[in-house]
Amino acid sequence: MTEKTGEAVRATGDYRCERCHKTTHFVLDTLFTKCPHCGFDTFDIVNRRFENRDGSPAPHEPEPDGS
Ligand SMILES: [Zn+2]
Repeated sequence: MTEKTGEAVRATGDYRCERCHKTTHFVLDTLFTKCPHCGFDTFDIVNRRFENRDGSPAPHEPEPDGS
C-alpha cells in the first residue's frame, strides 16, 4: 500500500519514501507532504501496527536481534 502527497493520513505512523527510503512520521487527519529528505511524493507505510498477519502489535523500532 502506498500513500501520496496531498492525501489524508489514515493512520498515524512512520512512512518510508519510495525513492530515498528514509522514514517520515505522519499523523492522522493531516495531509501527506513531500518527502522532507528528497522531495518525492510517494510513501510506503512502515509501522504496520494494524496489518500484522497474526494481529499482534508491531514494535515501533526493529528489535536488537533483528526480528
Ligand atoms: Zn525521499
